Amino acid sequence: MSPVIPPTPRAHARPALLSIVCPAFNEEASIAALFSAVHRVLSGNGQPFEVVFVNDGSGDSTLAAMREVRARHPNTTIVDLSRNFGKEIAMTAGLDHARGDAVVIIDADLQHPPETIPAMLEGWREGHEVVYGRRRNRSADGWLRRRTTRLFYGFLRRFGDVAIPEDAGDFRLLSRKAVDAVIALREHHRFMKGVFVWVGFSTKAVWFDVAPRAEGASSFNFWRLWNFSLEGITSHTLAPLKASTYVGLVVASFSFLYGAYIIAKTMLLGDPVPGFPTLVTVVLFLGGVQLIVLGVIGEYLGRIFVETKQRPLYFTNEVEKAE
Ligand code: UDP
Ligand code: MG
Repeated sequence: MSPVIPPTPRAHARPALLSIVCPAFNEEASIAALFSAVHRVLSGNGQPFEVVFVNDGSGDSTLAAMREVRARHPNTTIVDLSRNFGKEIAMTAGLDHARGDAVVIIDADLQHPPETIPAMLEGWREGHEVVYGRRRNRSADGWLRRRTTRLFYGFLRRFGDVAIPEDAGDFRLLSRKAVDAVIALREHHRFMKGVFVWVGFSTKAVWFDVAPRAEGASSFNFWRLWNFSLEGITSHTLAPLKASTYVGLVVASFSFLYGAYIIAKTMLLGDPVPGFPTLVTVVLFLGGVQLIVLGVIGEYLGRIFVETKQRPLYFTNEVEKAE
C-alpha cells in the first residue's frame, strides 16, 4: 500500500459556483420536480449554482418544461441537441456548457437524490477532484441486470485499463480540473463511467440510495445495455482481440495435429471408409471460430472507422445560456 497523503483543503476567495448537469430524454414529467428538489437543497445550503439542462432530442415537451423553469430561474442553461445522441454524449454536451468551479451530473428522473449533493461538495472542499455517488441498494434493478452488471465490471476490472467501482453510476461531482480533462477527450464511442476513472485524480465515494424512477420508464432495455457493455469493453481493453489470437492459435494447432494424424493414418492403413461426419464437424467448427474472431475484429474496426471521420460529437438547435 502506498502511503495516504491527505489532500490539501481548497480555499475559495469567492463563493464557488456549482453547475448541475442534467441530461434528459423524454422527461417532461420530471424536469420541474428535479429543479425544485435541487433548488431546495442548494438554496438551503447557501450554495450559488446554475442548472445545465440537456434536451437529448426528446419527442415530448421536455424542452418546454425546461423553458418554463428557465423563465422563472435565469440561472438555467438549456442545451437543445439536434436529435437524440444518447446519454453519454448528452452528458458531454452538458459538461461542455457548464461554467461552474465544480459540476454535479444528475439524472432527470429523480433516481439520484439531490440531498446527496452537499456530501459531494464536502468531499470536493476536502480537496478531491472527483466525488462519485455509490449506490447503497440496487433493488431498483432486476436480478438479471444485477448479475450481468456484476459480470461486466468484473471483466473490465480484470482486463481493462480502468477499475470502475461496480456500484458507481454517473451521479458524481467533478472539479473544474476533472471536467476539463473529461471534455478534452473527444472520442465518439465513449463510455463515460470509464472516462471518469481513466482521467485519474483524487477520488472519493459518498453513499446514496437509488430512488425508484419518478415518472416514465427507463430507456435502457436489454439491447441498449448490451451495446453499452460492448462500448465499455472495446473502449477500455484489447483483451477480446488478444483472446482471439490465442483461441485462433490453439484451434489451429489442434487442426494441424489432427491433419497430421489423418494423413499418417491414410498412408499407413489406407482410406477404406471416407469420414464424412468428421469432415463436416471440423469444417463447421473451424468456420465458426473464424467467424467469431472476425466479429471481434469487426467490433474494433467499426469503431476505428467512426473515429477516423472526426465528426463533431453533437449539434445543437440552440443553447440558451444562464444569465
Ligand atoms: N437519457 C438521455 N439520453 C438518452 C437516454 C437517457 O439523456 O438517450 C437520460 C435520461 O433522461 C435520464 C438519464 O439519462 O436523465 C438516465 O436514463 P434512464 O433513467 O432511462 O436510465 P437508468 O436509470 O435506467 O439507468
Ligand atoms: Mg433512471
